[in-house]
Amino acid sequence: MNLKLDITPIKNWFPNYAKPLIIAGPCSAESEDQLLNTAKQIAVNNPNCIFRAGIWKPRTRPNNFEGIGDIGLKWMHTVKKETGLLTATEVANADHVEKCLENGIDILWVGARTTVNPFSVQEIANALKGVDIPVFVKNPIYPDMQLWAGALERINNAGITKIAAIHRGFQSYDNGPFRNSPKWELPIELKTACSELPIICDPSHIAGTPGLITYIAQKAMDLDMDGLMIETHIDPSTALSDAQQQIKPFELNNILSNLKIKSASITDIHLQTKLDELRANIFKLDNDLLELLAKRMAISTNIGEYKRANNITVLQVLHWKKLIETSIENGYQLGLPKSFVTAIYELIHDESIRRQSITLQAEITSDIVKKL
Ligand code: PEP
Ligand code: MN
Repeated sequence: MNLKLDITPIKNWFPNYAKPLIIAGPCSAESEDQLLNTAKQIAVNNPNCIFRAGIWKPRTRPNNFEGIGDIGLKWMHTVKKETGLLTATEVANADHVEKCLENGIDILWVGARTTVNPFSVQEIANALKGVDIPVFVKNPIYPDMQLWAGALERINNAGITKIAAIHRGFQSYDNGPFRNSPKWELPIELKTACSELPIICDPSHIAGTPGLITYIAQKAMDLDMDGLMIETHIDPSTALSDAQQQIKPFELNNILSNLKIKSASITDIHLQTKLDELRANIFKLDNDLLELLAKRMAISTNIGEYKRANNITVLQVLHWKKLIETSIENGYQLGLPKSFVTAIYELIHDESIRRQSITLQAEITSDIVKKL
């Protein structure tokens, strides 16, 4: 994927920046007391934390709590005044942006349901022209990298250079034990496309339950992500939205103080030498794999020519079924998971069929040319 953004390094965004950036606070603002009490308890151990609360809530079905609305912005201001914490909230249209700016909200984020809609993202971007404020863009609900990249580009094109992505998981056919499947390969793809882009993980919306938050948060740190957004409520059992996944401030503390923060750069020379050696082995093996795949595909092309000469269909289901079953079993004996071998073979088979069909296509085209 191709993604070029003009980004101010995150360490220059806030006077007291430390990695990981922590964003904590309730899913929704519900009352001034709820906000203040939550924020005060969070601030005791996390004075550099950013305090989050949703003011306007995008609910899947109507007639649920849809956010406290504008009054919540005044409460956020009180939180900032009394605790010193910077404040963040979700915006879904230009009116939200204007109200947040008028009320001194420090950071804005675009929610997963908004990132899917380029019209709304563009409306937000237009409202942000000429403003210098950090903006986070959550991944779209469904695993569509182009929408995620597109939303980041629209906000960045409006002149926002303090920009980060939030990984909050994806709705998919099989979410496993998670509310939203993490699909770690997607934030990794984003980081690979634009290495300067900070990525913040939102373990709460991935996990959907407190029990999985530590695991997700640690994994995000192991992948060198830049921060964590964790929904924290003074009394989760009474929360008006996402009650089942919010944690109390003391639980937030436990999670954060047990996180193992690893270094992305290596200072020990022996460790570096060993890693270089292992990486050189992998590099060679990867090259061997590519050469073998190229040889295999050349044979596929040959087989395609035989099939055509003898009037045999390109796809022969029974033969393919037997081949994949044998390979899955062989791979399993070698310690490779069946799902892994299956995924590889599906790609190999698609490419073989494509080549055999191309030769067929080339012949049809040349026949037509001959007849002209
Ligand atoms: C939220 O942060 O409370 C929220 C609505 O999240 P998302 O946009 O990731 O669903
Ligand atoms: Mn929520």
